Amino acid sequence: MPDLRGLYQEVILDHSKKPRNYRVLEGADHHAEGYNPLCGDRITIYIKLDNDRITDLSFQGSGCAISTSSASLLTETLKGKTLDEADALFKKFHALVMGEANGNHAGDPQLGKLAVFSGVAEFPVRVKCATLAWHTLRSALKGEEKTVTTE
Ligand code: ZN
Repeated sequence: MPDLRGLYQEVILDHSKKPRNYRVLEGADHHAEGYNPLCGDRITIYIKLDNDRITDLSFQGSGCAISTSSASLLTETLKGKTLDEADALFKKFHALVMGEANGNHAGDPQLGKLAVFSGVAEFPVRVKCATLAWHTLRSALKGEEKTVTTE
């Protein structure tokens, strides 16, 4: 067994230092802002759709390493996915960080790199950092204009 905890921390640090898809998306079909007052994380997510498929997505914002790396991994993971697939991943990810995945989370191949956030379940205050990007994505897809907060 490799040291998963160390590996996970490496991935999170890498994505927080060098966030992927960190830009404003010109001509985005949807965008929304998210705010986590507990930690001060702010994020804007941009999405381009072709029918029900996410053809491109990006984000900008400022926040802690967990919220930034979670947004970065979200954009990397969801590009090319359908809205149904994105929704299914949201539910799996939510269960993972809430510690409701019954211990088999890291083995779920659909989660892929998102499994690096399994350790967040041990730190309830960090769950909102990890899920902010996902709540913001949902809000953007629903076309909600107001800023979504984790409160
Ligand atoms: Zn945070």
